Amino acid sequence: MFDLDDDYVSLAATARELATSLEPYAAEADGMLTVHPQMRAGLQQSGLAALCVPSQYGGRSDSIDPLAITVVREALMGGSAHLDGLFGMQGVGSYALARAGSPGLCKEWLPEVAALEAIAALALTEPEVGSDLKAITTTVTSRGSDLVVRGNKSFITNAGAAAFYTVLCKEDDGYSLIFVPAATAGVSVTIGPHLIAPHIMGEVSFDDVVVPADHRIGEPGEGFSLVLATLATFRVSVAGAAVGLAQAALDEAVRHTSGRKQFGRPLAETGPIPHLLGLSWTEIESARALTYRAAHRAGRDPLANLDLSSMAKVAATETAGRVVDRSVQVMGRFGLVTGSKIERLYRNARPMRIYEGGNEVLTGQLSRRLVRQLTGGQH
Ligand SMILES: Cc1cc2nc3c(=O)[nH]c(=O)nc-3n(C[C@H](O)[C@H](O)[C@H](O)COP(=O)(O)OP(=O)(O)OC[C@H]3O[C@@H](n4cnc5c(N)ncnc54)[C@H](O)[C@@H]3O)c2cc1C
Repeated sequence: MFDLDDDYVSLAATARELATSLEPYAAEADGMLTVHPQMRAGLQQSGLAALCVPSQYGGRSDSIDPLAITVVREALMGGSAHLDGLFGMQGVGSYALARAGSPGLCKEWLPEVAALEAIAALALTEPEVGSDLKAITTTVTSRGSDLVVRGNKSFITNAGAAAFYTVLCKEDDGYSLIFVPAATAGVSVTIGPHLIAPHIMGEVSFDDVVVPADHRIGEPGEGFSLVLATLATFRVSVAGAAVGLAQAALDEAVRHTSGRKQFGRPLAETGPIPHLLGLSWTEIESARALTYRAAHRAGRDPLANLDLSSMAKVAATETAGRVVDRSVQVMGRFGLVTGSKIERLYRNARPMRIYEGGNEVLTGQLSRRLVRQLTGGQH
């Protein structure tokens, strides 16, 4: 078992306090496609968003600490997916900028990200392109000292709320990331779609959007390696969020089944229910141990430990799916009531197996690497 140092324990406690204080807004916020003002204000006052930016630009530590992000997301997701998303996307949307953006852009924008004055977004997915990102059709071309972005991005978290979009574009034969302030002429947003687990989300169009050349993040053609660096740092935090959601679902199940009697005794002592609760607890602790270990390793070298992060993401999100389903089952009809916490957790668990790397995409990559290792690269 991987035990957290005191600093992380105390960080997790701060995040749990925040989630608890915002619990009265959680159901409302988790139904919204736009930012919930009290959630944003609470997160802003907590100062936690500073974890998503390096200290050079107003953040908390020299470089982003994946374990810190992970324990915070674990605490926030147990309360509200909206709150978790608001926090996590500040890092996911701004990491490439912090890594390779021009000093001027970094100085202008990153302190605002750290203070949650500017909301960040990362725009990769397109209406016709999901997992197969190399098939994107959004382009960037040079025009004099400017860059012109054309295309449509889809299912973009924080669309409409974001102050900027980090946009993956095709540039000649390669791919580049372009920093596009949301207020730039030609950027337009359609809010939605409305998911089973509502999300701050929209479709973003870039209609001949002109930005200065220094808005290319890094070198031409460096887009994919920056996206990979972003995922290598933040993928494991999705696992943290999944562990937090699973724990919250189990807590609901334990509360309900120990309070309700059938056949003269608590449900928690009846039939298979104790075994289901014990199994859920076991699976959560296993996922948590792998997640903390992967996050700790990612802190040392994110890319070298990406496989472990992917394993943690798959293990924890699949665990969350099983645990929340079991929790609904042991709560009987009360697990099905719209507006109940367990119903919200049940819906919020589902997208996690699809975003930030579909689980089958990740296990496919892991399998290919495993086969290559075991066959000495002959396959
Ligand atoms: C809540 C939410 C928030 C999101 N936020 C953002 C965001 O902020 N920015 C952004 O750019 N995108 C975002 N997305 C989009 C997300 O990144 C995509 O949904 C994801 O990349 C998968 O793409 P897809 O949904 O088109 O599925 P597809 O690529 O069509 O895949 C469908 C299924 O096939 C599987 N599959 C696909 N290819 C393979 C393969 N080669 N091997 C094995 N299995 C495979 C997948 O795992 C999945 O189960 C978000 C999505 C959701 C649900």
